[in-house]
Amino acid sequence: MREEFGGAEGRRRGGGRPYGRGGYGGGHGGPRGGRPRGRGGPPREHAGGADGAAGYAQGRARAPRTGLAAELRGLEGAQYGRYKGLTGRWELPGGLVLELVRGQSDPYAPPARVAVHVPGAQAGLPAELWATPTRRRALASYLARGAARAVRGEKALRVDAGGQEVLERSSCTVSADDGSVVLRLGVALPGHGRRIDGREAERLLCQVLPRAAERTLVYAALDADQVRRFVETVEDSVALRDALAGLGLVGFVADGAVLPRRSGVDDRPAAGGGVVPFAAPEELRVTVELPHAGAVTGMGVPEGVNLVVGGGFHGKSTLLRALETGIWDHVPGDGRELVVSRNETVKLRAEDGRRVERVDVHAFVDHLPDGSDTSDFSTENASGSTSQAASLCEAVEAGARVLLIDEDTAATNLMIRDARMQALVAKDREPLTPLVDTIRSLHRDHGVSTVLVMGGSGDYLEVADRVVMMDAYRPSDVTARAREIAAVPTGRHAEAGAFPGVVARVPDPASLDAEVRGRSRIRARGEDVLSFGDHEVDLRAVEQIADPRQVTGVGLALELMVRRSMLDGRRTLSEALDLLEEMLADGPTWPLLTVRDEDFAVPRRFETAAALNRIRGLRMLR
Ligand code: ADP
Ligand code: MG
Repeated sequence: MREEFGGAEGRRRGGGRPYGRGGYGGGHGGPRGGRPRGRGGPPREHAGGADGAAGYAQGRARAPRTGLAAELRGLEGAQYGRYKGLTGRWELPGGLVLELVRGQSDPYAPPARVAVHVPGAQAGLPAELWATPTRRRALASYLARGAARAVRGEKALRVDAGGQEVLERSSCTVSADDGSVVLRLGVALPGHGRRIDGREAERLLCQVLPRAAERTLVYAALDADQVRRFVETVEDSVALRDALAGLGLVGFVADGAVLPRRSGVDDRPAAGGGVVPFAAPEELRVTVELPHAGAVTGMGVPEGVNLVVGGGFHGKSTLLRALETGIWDHVPGDGRELVVSRNETVKLRAEDGRRVERVDVHAFVDHLPDGSDTSDFSTENASGSTSQAASLCEAVEAGARVLLIDEDTAATNLMIRDARMQALVAKDREPLTPLVDTIRSLHRDHGVSTVLVMGGSGDYLEVADRVVMMDAYRPSDVTARAREIAAVPTGRHAEAGAFPGVVARVPDPASLDAEVRGRSRIRARGEDVLSFGDHEVDLRAVEQIADPRQVTGVGLALELMVRRSMLDGRRTLSEALDLLEEMLADGPTWPLLTVRDEDFAVPRRFETAAALNRIRGLRMLR
C-alpha cells in the first residue's frame, strides 16, 4: 500500500497562478543542547504570548479546572461571548488537558484557539523518536498528519498538517524534556446564531477531540513501523543535506527519485507509466552513506557554475524545481525524499513591479536613462531585469551560497546579450550587464554557486564548469562537448570582469512599525500575501515558501525581529537575521508562539529577508 502523507492537501501554494511553487528548510538537524531563554521560562514548546495567549501563563500556574462538559452544557443558549469565560486549562477524563488558549468573540470571528496537551507518560512515545530536533520535527509532523485525518469529517476542527514538506509547525510539537505532545488547532465554536450551542461544543471538545488525540497522539495506537520510517526518512534527508558541503556539492538527486508532480496544482508525485525515475549520469554519480538508507547513489551537483540544457519539455525546470524544494525534507512516498540542496540555496526570478530599497545593483545595471545612481538603487516599480538584479544582490546579502535561476522565469536581458546585439547596441546605450559576465566571479571571488536552466542560449557554455543535458527526462554530462563548442569564438566580448560584492544595508526600525495602539497589524492574507501595517507584501515570487502557513511564519518572524529590537538601526540586515536564527535555534516554534498562537510553519532566514525586502514602507540606512 502506498503511503500518502501529503494526502489531498498535497496542494501547491499558489498553484496554477503566475508565480508560486512549493518547497521547507531543513537545517534543524543535529542535536542541540540548551533550553530556550524564555522570560521567566515556561517550558519550551508552550508559551503565553502578548496577543491573546496571555492567560496561558497564569493557567499554567494553577491546576487545570475540571468539569468542562458540565460547563458547556450549562452554557447552552447563553450569549456567544460567554465562551471566553472558559479560557484556560481543563482536565479531561483520561488525563488529557484541553486548553482554550483564545476564545472566539462571535460565530463569524476567526476560530477559537485550542491546545490539547498529552503528558509524556500518556503519549508513551519511545525516547529515540524524539531525541534530536530533527526527530522531534519529523515525529510532530507525523502526529499532526494523523490528527488532521482523524478530524477531517468535522468542519469545526482544523488541524494544520501541511503537504509534502516536513516543516516545523505550530500545530504539533513534541517536548524535548519528556516527549509530551501538544496539538494546537483552530476550533469554530458552535452556536445557534449568537447563542452558544453547548451540546455541540461538548461533543467537539469533550468527545471528538480527546478521542482523536487518543487515536493519533498516543504511541500504542500508532503504526510503529510507519512512524519510525517517517522519522528515519527525514533524518536521512537532513544527513544528506548536511553532507553536501563536505563533498563540495550544492545539491544531490538520488537515483530512482521521482521529480515530476501530479499537476501544476497538486504537489504529490506524478504517477503512471510515463514517469521516468531519475538516473544520474556516470560522470556525476556519487555515493553517500546515510544513517538509515545506507549507501545511496545519485547525481551530485558540484559547487561552481552549473548549466542545465536540453530541449523544451525535456524536464529541465522539473529538475531545478526539485533542487529548489530540496531545502526542505519530504514525506515518505514523495519521490524527492533524497533530493536535497544546501540550506543556503535561493531561487531567483524576475518580478517586475516589486519595490527595491537602496540596493547596490551597479554590477548589473548602470547609467540608467533617468541618471539614477544604481550603486544605491531604489524604485517603487522595478523592471524584470532590475528586480532580478536586486533579488540576486539581496539573496547574497542575506547569506545565499547557491542561486537557482530558470530561463522560464528569468529576465532574458539580464541573463544574456549576444554578439550581434553587442554590435548593434553600443555598451553605453545599454544599462544592463548580463549575468553571463559576472557568474564566474560570483563563485570564484564570493563562493556563490549557481544552477541555471538555459536551453535557449549557448553563451553560458563558455562560463559553465559543468553542463548537464536533459533528454527525455534523462540527464547526461555534456561538459566536454560544450567546451569544444565554446572554444569556437562567437565574437562576443565580456562586458565585466568581476562581481564586486554586495553592500550591507541597515533596516530602519522606524519604518517597520506595524502596530497601532499596541496591536500588531502583521497578518498573512491568503496564500502569498502578508499585510504589514498599511502595506501588502506580495510573496508570490518568493518561490521557496513551502506553504501558506509559512507566510504566517514569515510575518511572526518579522514581528519577533521588530519586537525584540533585532532591527535596531545599527545592525545590518544580515546580522539581524543571524540573531533571529540564534533565537530560533533551540526550537523555532516556541519563540514564534510567544508572538501569537496561530497556525504557522517556520521559514528560513531567506524567506524572512525576502519579505522584509518587499515591504513598501521599508527604509534602509547605509
Ligand atoms: P522543460 O523545462 O525542459 O521545458 P519541464 O521540466 O517543464 O520541461 O517538464 C515538461 C513536462 O514533463 C512536465 O509536464 C513535467 O511534469 C514532465 N516531466 C518532467 N520530468 C519528468 C519525468 N522524469 N518523467 C515524466 N515526466 C516528466
Ligand atoms: Mg522549463
